[in-house]
Amino acid sequence: MTKTSASPVYDIVVVGGGINGAGIARDAAGRGLNVLLVEREDLASHTSSASTKLIHGGLRYLEYYEFRLVREALQERERLLRIAPHIIWPLRFVLPRPKGGRPGWMIRIGLWLYDHIGGKQSLPKSEGVSLRDPRWSDGLKPGLTSGFAYSDAWVDDARMVVLNAMDAAARGATIRTGVAMTGARVEDGLWQVDLREEAGGAASTVQARALVNAAGPWAGSLLHDTGGVAHEGGIRLVKGSHIIVPPLYKGDHAFILQNPDGRIVFTIPYQKRFTLIGTTDVLVDEAERARPRISAEETEYLCHTVSEYFERQVAPADVISTYSGVRPLYDDGGDDAKAITRDYVLKLGREEGPQLLSVFGGKLTTYRRLAEHALEKLAPFLPAMGPAWTGAGPLPGGDLPGGDFDAFLQTVRARWPFLPADTAERVAHAYGTRVEEWLGGAEGWNALGEDFGAGLTAAEVDYLCAHEWARTAEDILWRRTKLGLVCPSDTAERLALYLARRAGHETAAAPAVASGGEG
Ligand code: FAD
Repeated sequence: MTKTSASPVYDIVVVGGGINGAGIARDAAGRGLNVLLVEREDLASHTSSASTKLIHGGLRYLEYYEFRLVREALQERERLLRIAPHIIWPLRFVLPRPKGGRPGWMIRIGLWLYDHIGGKQSLPKSEGVSLRDPRWSDGLKPGLTSGFAYSDAWVDDARMVVLNAMDAAARGATIRTGVAMTGARVEDGLWQVDLREEAGGAASTVQARALVNAAGPWAGSLLHDTGGVAHEGGIRLVKGSHIIVPPLYKGDHAFILQNPDGRIVFTIPYQKRFTLIGTTDVLVDEAERARPRISAEETEYLCHTVSEYFERQVAPADVISTYSGVRPLYDDGGDDAKAITRDYVLKLGREEGPQLLSVFGGKLTTYRRLAEHALEKLAPFLPAMGPAWTGAGPLPGGDLPGGDFDAFLQTVRARWPFLPADTAERVAHAYGTRVEEWLGGAEGWNALGEDFGAGLTAAEVDYLCAHEWARTAEDILWRRTKLGLVCPSDTAERLALYLARRAGHETAAAPAVASGGEG
């Protein structure tokens, strides 16, 4: 889209397709605003797919007196469990009590607060537990005899981003991936926002009444590209890494392990076949934000921490896969990476006229409320905006009958009995009621087209390309699904060939396909 007299004036241009940008775009579109979201790479290609994947209040934040954040996060946990029961589900955490760990009274007070500070909660409350109880004892060293259990929730982080973008598009937003904002300035009472398509593609300029900087780890640098509009403060980049190992124990629960340095490490059942272990807190500079990698020290640290608790000793050689992300934390002046606030700060950049709103910090858990706060701040400048609405609106596929995932899974199994059991469960979680869109009237596995292994077929890939902005094998294997961990070694290559053929056909058949909107 070039800047011509015909080019539309957007109410809001959102820069960044992580959870915060996608959440703001969805909320704004549902309030009747004309929204464009631009994401330089793929949706959720950075921090929002590299998290621990918890929808949680953050028990440890109580130690830093982050009561506002914990209260809001616990309230959001309750809401998100309701609006997205397919991609978010309860997870019980066990906190063993090692010698030299935090005193029992302190943990009891913390857990009491955790149970109550967010108001009425549907998840089971915390309790003291015996670690000799076979429900919790598997895998643990015999010296660990007691602990506590409490509730939080698990989320498929990358899918939560995509579902927000899909709902934004369904409500009229334009979503453009592979498009970067390269600069912006105020002229003629509007933001003139310069865009460039990836790989040296076309440049264009669009106009907007408000610009939202949701660039995550790039939120600080993006400010330099906005014609001298500056905010005080900035962000600190804190890398966090995870390792994935063969399962350390039986059971669906997670462990939260105290380390002598005061940090905590989670072990979480992952993709039915693995244990996910994380995370670390390492201050990094801008050079590391684009492709963060786990260091040997971080791997050692995580292996050492879990080996203190589990009978099976974990060594770096046991690690099957790793990932790292960079937290874009609000710079509160602290130097201890684990203590820098995880709360978010929203800043307006201008006194009047077209606004610039920047998002610093935040959690996956609080993205919906962050979006509401962002729009409250922009409301005086965009008076046509409707009221808040996202508290009760399900994310795409989240309208499970009665909110009951187990009953929904039975329906999926009965309707498509040819699906292997693990695939039925995976697609029921990933797509919820929208699974109908691509499984539809299929009567057998062969009707789903080319089989790429691990339960991935052409029908699903076509759906992901048409409705979820998937373009590459990586988008599909690591973000729309997590099949990259379990698929055969030739899947990525076969998928890339299929996508190239598909793109060729699309170009030949429909040269005028728009880059915005759903598809
Ligand atoms: P991002 O997801 O990084 O999105 C920003 C996007 O902006 C990127 O995709 C980038 O490509 C794009 N962009 C940048 N510049 C431009 C430009 N010029 N033009 C176009 N696009 C641009 N939170 C929880 O609630 N629970 C957890 O368990 C949890 N665990 C975490 C563990 C780790 C290790 C980390 C790192 C974070 C964790 N978080 C967790 C925090 C959470 O992941 C982040 O707060 C959240 O993902 C940040 O989202 P974002 O949208 O701000 O940033």
